[in-house]
Amino acid sequence: MLRILWFIILIGLIVFASLWVAQHPGTVEINWFGLEVSLSTGIALLLLLVFTIVVIFVFSLLRGLWRSPGSLMKAYRNNKRSRGYKALTLGMVAVAAGDPEEAKKQSKKADVLLNEPPLTMLLQAQAAQLNGDEDAARKYFILMLENKETAFLGLRGLTNQAIKKGDHEEALKLAYKAKKLRPESKWVFEQLHLLEANEGHYSEALEALQEAQSRKLLPKAESKHKQAVVLTQIALEKEKAGDLEFALNRAGKAVSRDPDLVAAQLVQSRLFVATNRHRKAVSSIEKAWKRRPHPDFVPIYMEARKVEAPMERYKAGEKLFALNPDDPVTLVAKAEAALAADLWGEARFCLDEALANKPSEKAYRLLADVEKAEGGSVEAITAYLEKAASVPQESIWICKTCSEPHEDWQMQCNSCGNLDSLKWRAEVLVQQPIKLLSADGPEVIVVEAETAKTSPS
Ligand SMILES: [Zn+2]
Repeated sequence: MLRILWFIILIGLIVFASLWVAQHPGTVEINWFGLEVSLSTGIALLLLLVFTIVVIFVFSLLRGLWRSPGSLMKAYRNNKRSRGYKALTLGMVAVAAGDPEEAKKQSKKADVLLNEPPLTMLLQAQAAQLNGDEDAARKYFILMLENKETAFLGLRGLTNQAIKKGDHEEALKLAYKAKKLRPESKWVFEQLHLLEANEGHYSEALEALQEAQSRKLLPKAESKHKQAVVLTQIALEKEKAGDLEFALNRAGKAVSRDPDLVAAQLVQSRLFVATNRHRKAVSSIEKAWKRRPHPDFVPIYMEARKVEAPMERYKAGEKLFALNPDDPVTLVAKAEAALAADLWGEARFCLDEALANKPSEKAYRLLADVEKAEGGSVEAITAYLEKAASVPQESIWICKTCSEPHEDWQMQCNSCGNLDSLKWRAEVLVQQPIKLLSADGPEVIVVEAETAKTSPS
């Protein structure tokens, strides 16, 4: 509306100016270099107007042409960069998806388009690794060390390569270099803990965990549990070497860091007995039994209470078992003590209670013994033994990663080498030989041992 008004005013002004010029006629004469021109004022003003418009038009055209090469170049560069970032993104997606060909293609494209090695080198290294070309990946990782922004990632890549090759010494050196660059990296401390522990450098592994905790890189509970595991291993090593006081000190530290780590409590109570601290052994086992009963505590407890005769042991055990009376482990341990003291009825009662909770290889085996002691039939004894063979054996330390059974707890799995992977659980099904009473007394083996493994739940 306003524009129309302006337009009307403009037309009005032009008409008014034209009329004014027509009412006041005159001439404009030009006499220049022998050229004589005579124009009416109206025509001269019109020509002046046309000339001004032409000059403005030509000027803006020239200005546009002058500026356009720059903006064209800028547009070209922006386009190239955005295609580079797209290739980088697609390359990362291909690495995550495990597509080696696509990763290689996109990494090359990103490298050409972006021309920024810090951005593209990691992708190129990862693409090379996906293609199985570890040498090429290594070259990229080494190149990454030259740039401040990529040096840490380069060290990380080289450390992982060294671990893969099994060169733990080299991996450790690299991990310590990475720590200097980024002391706040959780990954660095995880690697230092694993590598040092792997090399049997337990104090160093512990230091790595403590530093990670002080830097708040690990949740407190996780860090304390891991420290307890390393301390327990140190206690075991020192116990083996005969340095019992030192071993006991480390076991105590392990228990205080993680009171639920049964392996730590076992070694601690064993060391209390070995160093003649019997009362401490008794109270520590009673405390542990309340939290989580374990059958390996029973012989240590009996030794600490200095009881040997079966009835004495049963009576001593009563105090311990009363601390956690309904746990199946308690019931089976109590049944075992009762059976040894010829209290068959009590033993059977406890075993039935335990089996009502969950099937147990040991409970069935003890029931077969009770049956045998009470003069039961061969069929009844065999039935219990068959049941025993059909359920997982629980009195065993097993690797939760590879299912390898171990007789005793240790920090590292013998088979897969994982740390803190041994758990005391009924996760392996081991069919034991079934012993059958023959008619005239002596035992004969009728079923050969056959070992089968089930994967841990
Ligand atoms: Zn394992």
